[in-house]
Amino acid sequence: MRQECPACGLDYSRVDSGDGPAVLIILILGFVVVGLALWVEVRFEPPMWVHLLLWIPLIIVGSFGMLRPFKAVLIALQYRHKASQEIELD
Ligand SMILES: [Zn+2]
Repeated sequence: MRQECPACGLDYSRVDSGDGPAVLIILILGFVVVGLALWVEVRFEPPMWVHLLLWIPLIIVGSFGMLRPFKAVLIALQYRHKASQEIELD
């Protein structure tokens, strides 16, 4: 993350999406890929190399392609709902 937004100067120093985007992508992409793989297996019964050729690139491209948008959305939600890791001490 940058220190601040280049457009409006919003302070990003307290922003942290942690493992959230990766976990969401694992769940969503895993669901989609496993579903597709099962469907292809049942419908076409292809040899194993077809599965490797289809799903490994899809997983790699899908993960990297979804990471930035998901991180952006989670950070926007964090900002919108004023969520923070910091504990307030009174
Ligand atoms: Zn901004």
